[in-house]
Amino acid sequence: MSLRERLARAREQAGAAGLAGLVVTPGSDLVYLTGYAPMPLERLTALVLPAEREPLLVVPELERPGALASPAGELLEIRGWRDGEDPYALVAALLPEEGAVACSDQTWASHVLALQHARPGVRFTTVGRALPLLRAIKDAEELDALRRAARAADAAFADVLGVRFAGRRELDVAADLAEALRAHGHETVEFTIVGSGPNGASPHHEAGAHEIRPGDAVVLDFGGRMAGYCSDITRTVVVGEPEPALVRVHGIVRAAQQAGVEAVAPGVPCEAVDAAARAVIEEAGFGEAFMHRTGHGIGLDVHEPPYIVAGNRTPLEPGMTFSVEPGIYLAGRFGVRIEDIVAVTRDGVERLNEAPRELATVA
Ligand code: ZN
Ligand code: ZN
Ligand code: ZN
Repeated sequence: MSLRERLARAREQAGAAGLAGLVVTPGSDLVYLTGYAPMPLERLTALVLPAEREPLLVVPELERPGALASPAGELLEIRGWRDGEDPYALVAALLPEEGAVACSDQTWASHVLALQHARPGVRFTTVGRALPLLRAIKDAEELDALRRAARAADAAFADVLGVRFAGRRELDVAADLAEALRAHGHETVEFTIVGSGPNGASPHHEAGAHEIRPGDAVVLDFGGRMAGYCSDITRTVVVGEPEPALVRVHGIVRAAQQAGVEAVAPGVPCEAVDAAARAVIEEAGFGEAFMHRTGHGIGLDVHEPPYIVAGNRTPLEPGMTFSVEPGIYLAGRFGVRIEDIVAVTRDGVERLNEAPRELATVA
């Protein structure tokens, strides 16, 4: 889909959601709609998409050359503001006196509060709340980018199975993961979780100086960006011989992940995928030990709608991409998580990650 089509569709969806306009500041929404990717700064950069007039990109004058050189330069009118001028008055003048306006989720509070002050009659909300599915349905090109990022993450995992774990620090394995992601084409590495032994029981454990020991389960959850789109995969490995409890728990998580993936199809509510994975873990008696949602959408952001969580009745549609990542976390002992990115197809599901899911042994 062209940027022009995306802009038109955003405006249409905003109208249908009863919004008087959108204010999009630097971040993934701005990249998605205009191809312009500046740094978020205290100086206001904002795409203003009013319901009633043409879109306008407001940028600090010193950033105007960069904006003009980006795809946004050919797409829409760009207006610069100089230090000493009030950019909020400029943006406010493009917005109606009242009604609801959605700002992108990552818009700094300083910008939102200044806009609110300039337009006291407007009710500000977020794009995530008002238009959660703005970027949720990926077109063929986006699916391809996500597929390639996922395969690169699979290849990075295969590489890391060959490195030494025992006697090295989590940080060292995290560095190996980052290097492998880059070697397989990632431009940036966003996260490399390495949770060994008891640390694996903390789902977002930051790799630390902890030394990995024989017998440890190690949760590896890593990803980054390739051609702008994110990868995110988790596998749990064991250093040498696993204890029987680990083998059992790993089998349950693997069955839960399989059940979650098999539940994916167009028309199925997001929460049903969560319920399918959760049921397997609950039936095995570990319900309390699976303390997070089953998954999150993925695209230009690692975490974006749709969220695969109880209470989300949004029906899945072909082109949606998200993670299925159940886990069991036993405090003081170990954690197990298995995560793949999947895409909803016209009649079911496609796994974008295909790295083996059995409990792999590392040295
Ligand atoms: Zn996570
Ligand atoms: Zn992950
Ligand atoms: Zn994830």
